[in-house]
Amino acid sequence: MLALNCDVLVIGAGVAGSVSALKLAKSGYTVILVEKLKKVGVHSNTKVDITESIGIEDISRELKLGFLGKSQKSKWFAFSKSFLFDSRVHDFFVKRGSEKDSFDVTTAKAAVKAGAKLFLDSQVEKLEFNGDEIESVLVKSRGKKIVVKPKFVIGADGANSHSLSLSGLHEFEEKGVEISAFGVITKNLKLPQKMTHVFFHSELAPGGYFFIANTHKNYGVASVVVNKSRIDRHEKHYFENLVKSNKLLLEVFSGARIVNNFFGSSKSGVLTKKTRGNFLVVGDAARLLDPVFGYGVRPAILSAYLAAESIEKSLKNKDNYLHEYEQNLLEKLGDASSAHFLRKVFDRLDNSDFDHLIESAQHTHKQKHLDAVFEKPHLHRTLLFKTALRNPLKTLKISTKIITARIAML
Ligand SMILES: Cc1cc2nc3c(=O)[nH]c(=O)nc-3n(C[C@H](O)[C@H](O)[C@H](O)COP(=O)(O)OP(=O)(O)OC[C@H]3O[C@@H](n4cnc5c(N)ncnc54)[C@H](O)[C@@H]3O)c2cc1C
Repeated sequence: MLALNCDVLVIGAGVAGSVSALKLAKSGYTVILVEKLKKVGVHSNTKVDITESIGIEDISRELKLGFLGKSQKSKWFAFSKSFLFDSRVHDFFVKRGSEKDSFDVTTAKAAVKAGAKLFLDSQVEKLEFNGDEIESVLVKSRGKKIVVKPKFVIGADGANSHSLSLSGLHEFEEKGVEISAFGVITKNLKLPQKMTHVFFHSELAPGGYFFIANTHKNYGVASVVVNKSRIDRHEKHYFENLVKSNKLLLEVFSGARIVNNFFGSSKSGVLTKKTRGNFLVVGDAARLLDPVFGYGVRPAILSAYLAAESIEKSLKNKDNYLHEYEQNLLEKLGDASSAHFLRKVFDRLDNSDFDHLIESAQHTHKQKHLDAVFEKPHLHRTLLFKTALRNPLKTLKISTKIITARIAML
């Protein structure tokens, strides 16, 4: 049986795994990256994910990560209100799938160029622990068994993470939410470039929203994102109904050519422990998907980078600094329970609540840039209070929903 030594074994060559492998290989460490499938990126159909840039802009510059583009402008629509928001925070357009310019492919390729060894068609069968430390990992690669002896192991194998179960860390998982989506990649959308349109509708996109954007070179994406537990038909049905019911969307799609479609789901949850000995989990495997908007790419990149940093420090100092990974993650992403509380509130909102929130956001933005208010809401209490008092009954209705959501979590 072939035996290999390495500094770091990374399980899964998706967003998180390839970013960790790239950072570690660039720093000169020996990295083995194992991917279950025969080709990088085929776990997803060609699609474009949209994700917030907060906390990943420096990382993307340092590692030269390949995004399709970015946008700062978004137009938010509720049932009868809309609001154009020019934010200081970018949205990155992230091409996924197995085409040669997808994020997964370009990043894994860069990791290999930097020295990482990529094993395709390879799966981890067993993590051999001595106490809390992994001593060796049994990998089945193209039918042959390989024993890898790594100093550290990163579990980056996505929402249905096998490494999470093998490590025993799944026992620290609290129930979360499953977010699913159906979308299309299109040409010739009648939309300005680099501006995202976001629609909220409590019945047509239950517990979610619909977004549409032209990313670059006439390449467009549209998707409905929903709370899987609140739908009783295929996501495609919600996508089609929402488009059919909306005059603006019908106009945007008239003359458009659909290139392909994509659908799937990801799990968000609360994993109270993300490290065990010399093992840690990142990205969807660490349940870092944002439970409200379903953004998973940003936390995957951020966690992958922070994980690599803490491993580099450990290797350099011949000690274990993985606890710093958990701390830094908490600092950058915030407390998962608060995000899950927001999800519970979001699930209770109806179309009149969305109208009220969009109108309030617009009013607040006229007085003070919304980015500043979101960053430090405590400094803008008077403004927020005055905005809330513009329609006290509607504010009271939403406040009651916030309180019931809080009680439901007790
Ligand atoms: C339809 C859909 C739309 C989405 N839209 C958005 C969006 O607009 N914005 C956004 O930010 N996020 C979006 N997400 C979520 C986002 O795609 C994920 O959060 C992100 O891909 C997580 O990256 P990851 O590297 O953790 O996992 P993945 O990208 O899932 O990568 C996991 C990798 O591990 C491999 N693997 C799996 N099991 C094993 C194993 N046992 N051994 C070895 N390798 C294994 C897989 O093949 C894959 O290559 C969407 C998800 C779906 C399904």
